[in-house]
Amino acid sequence: MTILIKNGTAFVNHKFQIRDILIKKGRIARIAKTLPDKADRTIDASGKHVFPGFVDIHVHLRDPGQTYKEDIVSGTRSAARGGFTSLCAMPNTDPVVDNIATVDYIQRRAKDLGSARVYVIGAMTKKSEGKEISEMATMQSGGIVAVSDDGNCVQNAKLMLNCMRYATNFGLPLVIHAEDYNLAGKGQIHGGRIASKLGLSGLSGLAEEVIVSRDIMLAENTGSRLHIAHISTARSIELVRQAKQRGVNVTCEVTPHHLLLTEDACLGFDTNTKMKPPLRPEQDRLACLAALKDGTIDCIATDHAPHADFEKVREFDLAPFGIIGLETAFCALYHHLVKPGLLTLERLAEALTSAPARVLALASAELKSGVPADLNIIDLEASTTFTEESILSKGKNTPWLGQTLSGKVLYTLLEGRITWGD
Ligand SMILES: [Zn+2]
Repeated sequence: MTILIKNGTAFVNHKFQIRDILIKKGRIARIAKTLPDKADRTIDASGKHVFPGFVDIHVHLRDPGQTYKEDIVSGTRSAARGGFTSLCAMPNTDPVVDNIATVDYIQRRAKDLGSARVYVIGAMTKKSEGKEISEMATMQSGGIVAVSDDGNCVQNAKLMLNCMRYATNFGLPLVIHAEDYNLAGKGQIHGGRIASKLGLSGLSGLAEEVIVSRDIMLAENTGSRLHIAHISTARSIELVRQAKQRGVNVTCEVTPHHLLLTEDACLGFDTNTKMKPPLRPEQDRLACLAALKDGTIDCIATDHAPHADFEKVREFDLAPFGIIGLETAFCALYHHLVKPGLLTLERLAEALTSAPARVLALASAELKSGVPADLNIIDLEASTTFTEESILSKGKNTPWLGQTLSGKVLYTLLEGRITWGD
């Protein structure tokens, strides 16, 4: 089966240019200004944009164990609908991914039934309890791409130092969720103006910054590959900026919601504005955007965290933290940042493709001949309305529910197979 994508505005060599793309046996066979119209199927992409398949290095698929929230089938369909072709599954499932059997289960299921390529991140400590180092060596031989206790944070600095030394032996990057529990307390939203106004307990930015600072020092000491998940404060970003200047091997990601929303979104007690780290004040949001532009923040990751209605639709302080993100990510960022001229389409494209792939050393996410045909076709002139009925994730917990955003993913192809579209 050959597919020819005609006349699309394709992101090739870091810029958008009109190109024809020929796909043969699941791979990109040729990219050129014009190719002969001889394929089993031709897709006219005139006036549309063709991106390398998006890569999300921070996804909670909830499988095994919490499949009422999401499973590998629904989670990867949600990814395909959002233009994603590769994702990294976080290990805080039930059981936790701290052993080879669970790594195998996820890989096998994703391969057999999934609509996206799924890379597995293994737990850093057993059951992600922060007490004992996990079986990193066997999981690494089974193909994990990183270790993380995401959702939890190793509180003991000595144990973290040992995790770094051990992971580094096996060439594994460490992805951290930076949160000092004593400083975080029972915080519900960012500890500031809005928390006082609503009478909710606050989560201080310090809880994040203290761990970011600690782990940068530990990574500097051990020479480890450190990646900071969902960075959210101006001071954390400054710490990363300085560390990068010193040559520390550190990278970080930002979520769409920390780029687009502030603590003010919590004013209506909508539990779809409750996540960790919490939405921050405007100056932190602006720092995130500036750092994404100047490269201090390497990439965008959604932290897709589906929950069931019965969990999320309840009193604010009882609702779990987290929102979904795979389907809304591109449209929300395009609508609110690129369209008004606050971010270039090129930087957004990079931050969703080659940059996250580089961060965790995944297969390159670029449009070039010879690589697997992972790509999407997006109509920037059209729009998408996100309703409970249309969202493919089992979780409907998004602050963009009911909204219409610019951009529409028309097709997503994974190794030349159409995973979203007609
Ligand atoms: Zn996290």
